[in-house]
Amino acid sequence: MSEHDQDQPATEEPDAASGDAASGEDCLFCRIVSGELSADLVHQDDDVVAFRDIQPKAPTHVLVVPRRHVRDWSDTARHAPELGPALLRGVADVADALGLEHYRVVANTGEKAGQSVFHLHLHVLGGRPMLWPPG
Ligand code: AMP
Repeated sequence: MSEHDQDQPATEEPDAASGDAASGEDCLFCRIVSGELSADLVHQDDDVVAFRDIQPKAPTHVLVVPRRHVRDWSDTARHAPELGPALLRGVADVADALGLEHYRVVANTGEKAGQSVFHLHLHVLGGRPMLWPPG
């Protein structure tokens, strides 16, 4: 990665492929991070916010979201890699807070992989056995 890449802001223009909105008032998770929309928070720190998924796919289903708007895994890796440790720590903090010893972490990346909200989020799923492959 070049220094130039790291200097670029994370994606803030709509992506032509998916038509997703940029950050701010058009982004659902930015609105949760800002407190404009309520969510069932389980953890937050300076870098991440974690809240329960509104349509849980497991007894425990929490989303770990960076406060900063980044579109997806690739956008984060290319333009905001410094968020990596905070995301790792955020997931572990959620697991600690909820007493999860066995859990799965998922980052759907792109529409065909199941991403529907284009603000990076890590799904933390637990409370039941997890199948593999995931389907
Ligand atoms: P993905 O499909 O991987 O982009 O995940 C987006 C997740 O956000 C889905 O599991 C949704 O159920 C969840 N979701 C959508 N709106 C909300 C909301 N207002 N509060 C909490 N979770 C939400």
